[in-house]
Formats: sequence, C-alpha cells, structure tokens
Amino acid sequence: MRLLLVSALALVFAAPVHAASKPGVHALYDIRILSADDMEGRGVGTPGGAKARAYILKRFGQIGLKPQGKAFERPFTFKPKLAFREVTGVNLVARIEGTSSSDKVLVVSAHYDHLGVRKGQVYNGADDNASGVAGLLAVAEAFKARPPRHTVLIVAFDGEESGLKGAKAFVADPPVPLAKIGLNVNFDMISKNAKGELYVSGAGPQPWLKPVLEGVARTAPVKLKLGHDTDADGKENNWTQQSDQGPFTVAGVPWVYFGVEDHAEYHQPTDDFATVPQAFFQHAVTTVVSATRALDDDLDGIDKAAGR
Ligand SMILES: [Zn+2]
Repeated sequence: MRLLLVSALALVFAAPVHAASKPGVHALYDIRILSADDMEGRGVGTPGGAKARAYILKRFGQIGLKPQGKAFERPFTFKPKLAFREVTGVNLVARIEGTSSSDKVLVVSAHYDHLGVRKGQVYNGADDNASGVAGLLAVAEAFKARPPRHTVLIVAFDGEESGLKGAKAFVADPPVPLAKIGLNVNFDMISKNAKGELYVSGAGPQPWLKPVLEGVARTAPVKLKLGHDTDADGKENNWTQQSDQGPFTVAGVPWVYFGVEDHAEYHQPTDDFATVPQAFFQHAVTTVVSATRALDDDLDGIDKAAGR
C-alpha cells in the first residue's frame, strides 16, 4: 500500500502538466512549489521573488499562454517607505484571446510577492498568496482548454505587500485601455478557513453582480459567502482597498475579489504549505475557476449594468 501511495503521489507531483482536467490537483502542486523555503518568501526585488517569477513563467509556457504585447514581464519601480533606494517589481501579463466580437477584456489577477525573509525567518506565504497564484494558473488552464468569450488577461502582480504597487503600476499604465476592462477578478488568500468558507466581495457596491455570484455559490463546493465590501461591515472588514482590486476600484473599473477571513497564520512565518487544508483549497480553486467562467459568460451584461 505504501509503495502504491508513493507512486500515486509521485504522479501527482511529478507530472502536473497532465492534471489539467483536475484544477485542484494541479493547484496543490503550484502552491507547494511557490511556498517552499527556496522561494525565500518571494520578497519584491529579491532573488526569491525572481525565482517565483521564473516558476510562474515556466507554468505560463506549459499552459501555452502568450504575452500581452512583446513580453510577459512588465517592470515598474517604487520607493518603499523609509527606504533610500528604489525597488523594481515585475508584473507578469499573459493574454488569452476571446471567441466573441465584444471588445471588453477580463483581467484576472493574483499577487505572487510576499514578505520575504525577516530576522532570519522565511515568510512562505502559502495562503498569502501562493494560493491565489495557483488559482490564477488554474483559471488560465481552464480558459486554454475551452476559450473564454472575452479576451482575458492573466496577471501575476508583484509588490502587493508594499502597498498594492504592482496593481497601481498596472492601472497607471494599462496594457489595454482601462475603458475596455470590463471587470477585474482578483484572488488573494483562497486556501485557508476552518469553517470551509470563502468570501466573494463586490456585489455590495455593485449589486448587479449578485445574481451571477449567487448562482456560483449555489453549486460551489465551498461555502461561498458574499460580503466584506461595504462600510456597513466596518472599516477593518471592508476589504475593497485591501488587495490588488483596490486600484481598479479607484479607477472606476468593476471588480470582484475572492479571499478568506484572516487566520492565525496571517502574515506569520507559519503560513506554510503544511498548514493549508488541502481539500478546502482544492474546492476553493474549483470555485474560482467556475466563478471566473460565469463572470466571463456574463461580462457584457455586467458591463452594461455598470453603465460604462
Ligand atoms: Zn495577499
């Protein structure tokens, strides 16, 4: 039995390319690699960050993604608080062509950077946000297997932990005009919740999103809850500006965000692959993949309702 188990595991972890029909299985591989110690916590502008980027680019290649424009890499610079020197971050932007004649674009995003190494401790950021990047790659895989209606940009943001720097750079110098972006769908922390709950934010301030998100919730393998998107939730609990959807909302681009409630490992060195509940994470990935498909299907209606 042990041998059998070992070879089955070897199959899962050695040959992820063939697991495309099971997004959760493949995502488990991605989250494990991205949150391993040798990625050194993926700090922006560090060798660990570059290593994570190289891995994501390798996966883009395996999935068969093409860059938006000449190259996937879109560097940007910023000066961190209390620092003397500028730091260079690098967003990665891929493009999947849609099948319809609509010129609206769906931007699907997740940040790959995390806190790096602090006082000798590696902050692996398995949930924050290796999980979201794994979800992003699963979405890309699903759209390559069956093309989206609208053109989709698959965006891995850098510099989120420094203050949404990658998303701000993207919105300040967008690779497609902002007016053509029908929706930003952002994933940040989708792997960890003791109650099996995943939140989707956005329908509070954009009530026209409610029917499609409630439709997704009805068949989702996790408890998909709507909320955390208005001041009625309290300032701390309104997540609108707390991840990379923030700069999109400021620019007036419609948005949806997927994530879990904070947990004991949030921004701690214990946010490791070992503390990820694997079944929940796989179900969360399945959920964000089907949700993104549903949002693509409805994008023209969403765009019209948003009055843009
Ligand atoms: Zn995050």
